[in-house]
Amino acid sequence: MFDATAMTTVDTRAVHAGRDDLRTLGVHVPPIDLSTTNPLPSVEDGGNAYEQLATGGLRPVEGGSVYQRLWNPTVARFETALAELEGTAQAVAFASGMAALTAALLAAGRDGRRHVVAVRPLYGGTDHVLATGLLGTTVTWARPDEVAAAVRPDTALVIVETPANPTLDLVDIAAVATAAGDVPLLVDNTVATPVLQQPARHGAALVLHSATKSIGGHGDVLAGVIACDAEWGARLRQVRAVTGAILHPLGGYLLHRGLQTLPLRVRAQQANAEKLAGWLAEHPAVHRVHHPSVHDPAALVGRQMAGPGSLLAFEVRGGAPAAAAVAGTCRLITHAVSLGGVDTLIQHPASLTHRPVEGDAKPVGGLLRLSVGLEDTEDLRADLAQALAALG
Ligand SMILES: *Cc1c(COP(=O)(O)O)cnc(C)c1O
Repeated sequence: MFDATAMTTVDTRAVHAGRDDLRTLGVHVPPIDLSTTNPLPSVEDGGNAYEQLATGGLRPVEGGSVYQRLWNPTVARFETALAELEGTAQAVAFASGMAALTAALLAAGRDGRRHVVAVRPLYGGTDHVLATGLLGTTVTWARPDEVAAAVRPDTALVIVETPANPTLDLVDIAAVATAAGDVPLLVDNTVATPVLQQPARHGAALVLHSATKSIGGHGDVLAGVIACDAEWGARLRQVRAVTGAILHPLGGYLLHRGLQTLPLRVRAQQANAEKLAGWLAEHPAVHRVHHPSVHDPAALVGRQMAGPGSLLAFEVRGGAPAAAAVAGTCRLITHAVSLGGVDTLIQHPASLTHRPVEGDAKPVGGLLRLSVGLEDTEDLRADLAQALAALG
């Protein structure tokens, strides 16, 4: 059996994590178990297994796994692997990033606490769920240095995203965790990935990913996952079993496979992004570039984050019409939402991902977000150059 404790680097863990049982099974890649139901050994054992899993049990006991909404081995292997990369005891996978956030809000508020303190900017969907109070929560928006003052006795959760979407602002996770005190901190780590940042090491109780982005990495899986300790894991699995926001086993398989190349992809995409950020910053049609490689006032790159990442944003001169023209003129780069995949995508946050965001929190009209992929840097630069040149 492969000795998991000997796996020290993220590269090695990414390739081998969550695969400990394969040799015993006599297979080299994880089997995809599509069973929605499973034979029960007896009425009593089946009933006990149901009870155990429906209340948040980590894995099936005698009596089997009962029903796919309660537990699936293909998804569980991915969860084991992701937890190992984030440095947490457990992880719980969901049908989407928003399903994961919903489960976190439900799990955190189960003893009647419905108040959330959140640091903007956040992903537009997260902002929308909190601002509308759709899930019965109320929100106080706070800057990182206002979090301690915003926390109340009924505060269930503090939420931050770093790097933030779409401004790429970095938030000091340890400082916010301290400010949150006893209130659990949820960090959306989608943009950084566990390769560049492990928020649990800085005090986050819940580390959320839209696994749809870098973890899947190829634009073909919609998923979410939360890395956490055993107690949160049980609460989240209970919510997931009850609400049914489970990840399909095919998605679990693809994400587990995606993890194997995550460190390589993240570093190569990041190298591309750094070069493009530097080039864009010098371009006469560009007013401002947002990327931790050019803007990191608190010097968090190197301390909290191993590198600036592959997502950047830039403001073109001429506002929203100019931004729309650039998005529409790119040829190699696809005008599409999402991020973290192997191909480069451009989108206009104010009219798309951050459309529901209210008032001053809405991104400026000239801002474009670029998720940098694995293409040759020169080809990407040439495409952006022709699109920016068309602005005249
Ligand atoms: C996409 C995204 C989400 C939402 O995830 P889905 O998988 O689309 O539901 C949440 N947070 C961030 C930072 C995202 O980019």
